[in-house]
Amino acid sequence: NPASIPGLPSGISEQLADDGIEELYPPQAEAVDAGLTTGESIVASVPTASGKTLIAELAMLSAIERGGKALYIVPLRALASEKKSEFEKWEKHGFSVGVSTGSYESSGEWLATRDIIVATSEKVDSLLRNNAPWIADLSCVVADEVHLVDDRHRGPTLEVTLAKLRTVNPGLQTVALSATVGNASEVADWLDATLVQSDWRPIELRTGVHYGSAINFDDGSQTALPTGSHDRQTEAIVDDTLSDGGSTLVFVNSRRNAESAAKRQAGVTKRHLTDSERSSLSELADAIRDVSDAETSDTLARVVEKGAAFHHAGLAAEHRSIVEDAFRDRLLKVIAATPTLAAGVNTPSRRVIIRDWRRYDGEYGGMKPLAVLEIHQMCGRAGRPGLDPYGEAVLLAKSADEMDELFERYIWAEPEAVQSKLAAEPALRTHVLATIASGFATTKEGLLEFLDGTLYATQTDAGGEFGRLEQVTDSVLAYLDVNEFIERDGDSLSATPIGHTVSRLYLDPMSAAEIIDGLRSFEEGATTAVRRSKPTPPDGELETAFSTASDLRETDQQETGNADDQETIDRPTPLGLYHLVSRTPDMYQLYLKSGDKSTYTELCYERESEFLGQVPSEFEDVRFEEWLSALKTARLLEDWALEVDEDRITDRYGVGPGDIRGKVETAQWLLGAAEELAGTLELGSNIAVREAKKRIEYGVRDELLDLAGVRGIGRKRARRLYEAGVESRTDLRDAEKGVILGALRGRRKTAETILENVGRENPSMADVREIEPSVRSAV
Ligand code: ADP
Repeated sequence: NPASIPGLPSGISEQLADDGIEELYPPQAEAVDAGLTTGESIVASVPTASGKTLIAELAMLSAIERGGKALYIVPLRALASEKKSEFEKWEKHGFSVGVSTGSYESSGEWLATRDIIVATSEKVDSLLRNNAPWIADLSCVVADEVHLVDDRHRGPTLEVTLAKLRTVNPGLQTVALSATVGNASEVADWLDATLVQSDWRPIELRTGVHYGSAINFDDGSQTALPTGSHDRQTEAIVDDTLSDGGSTLVFVNSRRNAESAAKRQAGVTKRHLTDSERSSLSELADAIRDVSDAETSDTLARVVEKGAAFHHAGLAAEHRSIVEDAFRDRLLKVIAATPTLAAGVNTPSRRVIIRDWRRYDGEYGGMKPLAVLEIHQMCGRAGRPGLDPYGEAVLLAKSADEMDELFERYIWAEPEAVQSKLAAEPALRTHVLATIASGFATTKEGLLEFLDGTLYATQTDAGGEFGRLEQVTDSVLAYLDVNEFIERDGDSLSATPIGHTVSRLYLDPMSAAEIIDGLRSFEEGATTAVRRSKPTPPDGELETAFSTASDLRETDQQETGNADDQETIDRPTPLGLYHLVSRTPDMYQLYLKSGDKSTYTELCYERESEFLGQVPSEFEDVRFEEWLSALKTARLLEDWALEVDEDRITDRYGVGPGDIRGKVETAQWLLGAAEELAGTLELGSNIAVREAKKRIEYGVRDELLDLAGVRGIGRKRARRLYEAGVESRTDLRDAEKGVILGALRGRRKTAETILENVGRENPSMADVREIEPSVRSAV
């Protein structure tokens, strides 16, 4: 029991007992026996919801007690704040908690004062690059969801980060938490850790497939339920669960499916609500509408009123946490979610339905079956300890054959082995440069020695593939050399000033090379390349994305002059810059939907003089299409900077408000990087870059930059104030208060806060009479 755990600071076992933890779960006890609280490294490979967080907490608290700090690495930024608030319960015992999110460039010195630090692997990587001094004080690092080293995009960073932390700090206790995977012992070998592996769950889990007239469970039992389409099947299961007082999580494969499933299931949940639930839900719906006035807000609020919700990465963070909390409080009865929710957010439910077991994958080129590991993680969300007698996870089949396949493929199957993705070139490119720039390695031998501490090395050695790592490393070194990010002098390797900048800015070297080329080609006047003749689009095609003539006019050409009658422009335009950063590998570009190709081809010719660098020929299919995807992305950013309504943007590009924010943040970061690169290389475009970045930051045209920077104003209010003649911060301090109040639609409190923020002498709005904005705003 908690009182007999060695190495814990005083007061902790009592706190655990107070929290209702009377006995350790078996995997927790096994980890403690293996030395978790006395400094031993542990890999815990156990099912979802079996108490991994407490394993981490015990390790961190005892490590801090021995002297030093603990670092908790999360896979998603959204989880960082969740974990931080979970760990804050230890503050009353004197353990301070800090979360490091935000910009990649700072060294986070303030974190030196914290005992427990929560951060994403990207953030830790960048802290390492910036030589954060407290890294040397770490005595324990916890890697949450360590099986994600298998992830093509983000895995290598986690892998390299752990290897680096362990190199800097040879005695570091490493605790890695993992879902059940096929090769946990290999992961433990890599981290020199003891493996704790278990199938134990705090609550029984039954898994089955619904087909025919019943759910057929793995233990041979059946629950009779009518069949039909996937929608009907889902409705029947949700209804059945509700009559038993339980909740259901439905996993689907796309955002659109999540929203339509939620709408459908709301028809079921609304029949089961009590009066008091109905009124709480309507308050919840108001809170959701308050978050933003985008259409998604309203769609979500409307299903929430009926007791259902959807959850996907396109939702605003506030929306996500409102939904998660209300589901945990059992106010919401159903969530239809894309798999993001399966990865880490703690939302258990009585039943889990996996409606779609295939998902569209662009790189795969079609519908791809989900991994066994992912399906098992979704199933693991079934069953709320203390509330449900057991959890049930159900897959849906349309035929007997499909049912057999699902049993084979998922229910009886072992999860996949975790495989390092470090040898993929973009990953090595980035990490090799960082390793050289931060002085971790100064020769190729040193570099290979460091890389030897990675899972990749463990796995290739085991597979007898020695030499492969050296080959890819050679080609990466050659790339970095050609692009002048590193210098080779005999055996020794060092980063050039620009290489240092690239590493510090956390850019993929290929993004940096693209940006530098683009800015240089502008400088050299390469954009004056002969304009190609404009092909005539087939009738009507232009209408697909831009429905009115005014849509087409809504461009920055109004500000920079008409592109048609000029061959050169004296400074890069915002669209040119947005396109430049959108075509780097650091930006996830928007997909081209049907019809988009001709629309953006047309736009491409129309705005050709604005692009930085050579437009690829239409005959280079792949490159040209990538160029157009980047153009679609750039055009979204331009719309945002032209004050187009959020709703209009979500419609036009088929994205959610969360996506707009995501693209805007990435663009802001990349433009900031471009500004620095331009500065370091003494290219003249840095002022144009800074302005384009500012406009993206606030989502406004030039004339509003001053106003929109004031806290509490934002793009819409800035526009209204401007139209009412209040055009600057100075105007805010001097203008008649009634005019300001009118522009702010009579919101006194808001007006006062804003006036305070600009330092107006007497910000009080008491007794001020609102002056209606003049006709000017109506035009
Ligand atoms: P995981 O991270 O493995 O998915 P969590 O750490 O979130 O799971 O634990 C799931 C739930 O179990 C939490 O609500 C936690 O408070 C509870 N829990 C963990 N350990 C114990 C224990 N020993 N006794 C009782 N409840 C526990």
